[in-house]
Amino acid sequence: MEKWPVGVFTSVDAGLGVHLDVAHELGVPTIQIHAPHQETRTEEKALAFLKRIDGYGIKLTAVFGGFAGESYADIPTVEETVGLVPANTRDERLHEMKEISDFARKLNCDVVALHLGFVSHDVESAEYQQTVDVTRELCEYVRSNGQNLHLETGQESADSLIQFITDTACDNLFVNFDPANMILYGTGEPIEALLKIGNRVRSVHCKDAKWADAPGVEWGSEVALGQGDVNLKKYLETLQHIGYFGPLTIEREIPQEPERQKVEIKHALDLLEQLKQELLAV
Ligand code: MG
Repeated sequence: MEKWPVGVFTSVDAGLGVHLDVAHELGVPTIQIHAPHQETRTEEKALAFLKRIDGYGIKLTAVFGGFAGESYADIPTVEETVGLVPANTRDERLHEMKEISDFARKLNCDVVALHLGFVSHDVESAEYQQTVDVTRELCEYVRSNGQNLHLETGQESADSLIQFITDTACDNLFVNFDPANMILYGTGEPIEALLKIGNRVRSVHCKDAKWADAPGVEWGSEVALGQGDVNLKKYLETLQHIGYFGPLTIEREIPQEPERQKVEIKHALDLLEQLKQELLAV
């Protein structure tokens, strides 16, 4: 596979990505998708989807899980509602992640990913251990489908994430690195974090953001790639440094403005192609 194939985050009927026809129109060779709703996760729909992406010459590189009831309205709401951390929805969501893993298998996709939620910072707490346990169970399940599990970055600092992965002790647990999320959540300078997480990074998002005035308390703001505080060139140089040459998946989370979303993704693709030429030619 070529180094750093570009890609885009897409959605079928859930999540904030662009639709598949937009990915096709933009001519990208790879996509990640947000898992569709349960009624869409059938054998028949999977085959139809595969046929479409094969026809477009697109490779699916990761399926992201997400759940009803999650809200990213503000940071405390994320803490209460997102991922496998909240205890009141944990069992049903674990069950749903297993179904999403089965669906990803139908799509011949060997990576399942998710936002785990805010892991407790008290590593001695019962809550922390429960999050370790549920992640371990999910890792075992996706392994039975021949898959790895990637945790999206954002809610944890690099150090906490590494500690969590170490404590979980699953050899199929890796990281989907999103530099913008580190800024949006105020969990650390993204380049430093990327260097720390290093070879645990097995997929990435190309997304940009500006720091909030009070990082970690209020949201930073997501902006078009190249317009924020990530420093895209440094980001790619650092990916090169840690030996990551997998897909560069562009994420732009403004589905309420589809025309602007498409224009900005097109611009992001041009930017990435330009930087790829510059950095990979050396
Ligand atoms: Mg992301």
